Amino acid sequence: MTHIPKTMLAARIVPGNERLVLDKAYPIHELKDNEVLLKMAAAGVCHSDVTLLSGVTLDTRTYVLGHEACGVVVKLGSDVEKHHIHIGKLYSVLIGDGCTHGINGGPALFNSFGIGNDGAFAEYFIVTFDLLVPVPAGVPPAVAAIASDAGVTAYNAVQDVAQVKQGDKVLIFGIGGLGHLAVQYAKHFVYVCDFKPAARQLALELGATEAFDWIQLNTKLTAGFTVDTTIDFISTNQSFTAAMSALQHNDVHFVSKPRLVLVGANPENLVFSSLSIVASGVQIFGRSCGPRSALVAALDLFAKGIVRAHVSEERLENVNDVIDQLRSSEILGRKVLVAHE
Ligand SMILES: [Zn+2]
Repeated sequence: MTHIPKTMLAARIVPGNERLVLDKAYPIHELKDNEVLLKMAAAGVCHSDVTLLSGVTLDTRTYVLGHEACGVVVKLGSDVEKHHIHIGKLYSVLIGDGCTHGINGGPALFNSFGIGNDGAFAEYFIVTFDLLVPVPAGVPPAVAAIASDAGVTAYNAVQDVAQVKQGDKVLIFGIGGLGHLAVQYAKHFVYVCDFKPAARQLALELGATEAFDWIQLNTKLTAGFTVDTTIDFISTNQSFTAAMSALQHNDVHFVSKPRLVLVGANPENLVFSSLSIVASGVQIFGRSCGPRSALVAALDLFAKGIVRAHVSEERLENVNDVIDQLRSSEILGRKVLVAHE
């Protein structure tokens, strides 16, 4: 029987503080009937964490940050056993059900795991049993962790929102934690734009057709380069304007209903003319997370070796260093935290 301590190391978001506060004796709460206690195996650090720490959401709550995780079950609430959740097994955590408002029964995005409620930047975490998805054999914890947000969100954006089809040309902005997976989910004619040379190189290694910096992309756009779909993991005015340009010239594939999918959560205002939207027929979508089926698919693609995750590990106590590295665009792929030997 695993010894479960009463307190643990946890990294809390505290309003007004752009660094996480490390608490060495954060209480591990008693479980409600439908909850499960997991020993954190790996927790990804996401750009949304940087956004939450910036205070832009005006949230006044304090809680343990971290919404991308997997863990080993160590204790079950009294009602959970009949739902086939097993002690000692590794599970990935679904953030919600893909609905940001929670109207399908899952939690609303801003009242979910690691976003408003205690999350995974801790030695242990608690979730309701219905958010757990078993990790297939052969998928290491660092990869299973990033499946739960980077994997789900990128997969959902490519497959369900952008509805990328065989033969489509797709332009992806931002080859980070999500973008490097989206390149592989989109598969076909994938073009990428990132200001970081190492990120462009990674995208090419993962199957991108061409990789541009901003100057190269602008040169291509001026020469008439068009795509059917853009997926934007940055969502700045710069990327939005370039995306509109790549889609508006799309008179050759007019019937394909050009789609612009925003995934990056950026507080910057986007500027466009209603005329350009109305005249071009570009459809604009915003999306975060995804349904359980997307997490199952993301884990399965990792298990089969069809999609490769670029991950590196750091210790939980160094979480603020990782946040700083993410703010400075120093991370290639995704960095995950580990808490135990
Ligand atoms: Zn995230």
